Amino acid sequence: MPDAMQPTWSANHKSLPARVETGVRHVDHEKIERAVRMILEAIGEDPDREGLRDTPARVANMYEEIFAGLHQDPAEVLSARFHVEHEEIVLVKDITFYSACEHHLLPFYGMAHVAYLPAHKTVTGLSKLARLVDVVARQPQIQERMTNTIADILETELQAYGVMVVVEAEHLCMTMRGIKKPGSKTVTIATRGQFSDPHRAQDVLRLLKA
Ligand SMILES: [Zn+2]
Repeated sequence: MPDAMQPTWSANHKSLPARVETGVRHVDHEKIERAVRMILEAIGEDPDREGLRDTPARVANMYEEIFAGLHQDPAEVLSARFHVEHEEIVLVKDITFYSACEHHLLPFYGMAHVAYLPAHKTVTGLSKLARLVDVVARQPQIQERMTNTIADILETELQAYGVMVVVEAEHLCMTMRGIKKPGSKTVTIATRGQFSDPHRAQDVLRLLKA
């Protein structure tokens, strides 16, 4: 019977998370569990000892959560639009985010600051900017691409006159391993439209310091 083909560890596979009720499951839990078990073996651990027995399943659940952004359309987040008598800078600062560096699959995390200059008196909800950051962050990333992706989506979706995104983050692959520089921050900036003009960009930077 095909049972003989099944690795024994899959027999006690955890029940599926709630999302499966919708019939959509983007993450192959069994594959992650197999891989994590192999990594544990490869580093010289015993994957069957009590403390590690549920680790592959836990890691699979965690990856589904922290990489959920891979299966969401970040542009859709901005579909809520409002008409306002306002074409001045909109800035949401100190948006906390957590991402994973795609080179080491270790966390990088920090703050994103997102500013745009609305066009045609059209804005999106303030919370949507934070949501956009979250979706883009929840995938294997590098900070530079994350910063530019957020800026591109805002520019394209809102047709904004200007966009500026500043991301400051600590990378665990720099602080807990490698060059080990605890507390060092990496800052990346992306500007579009009018904020590509350094004088206009200064307006945002002033607000950020305020
Ligand atoms: Zn890294």
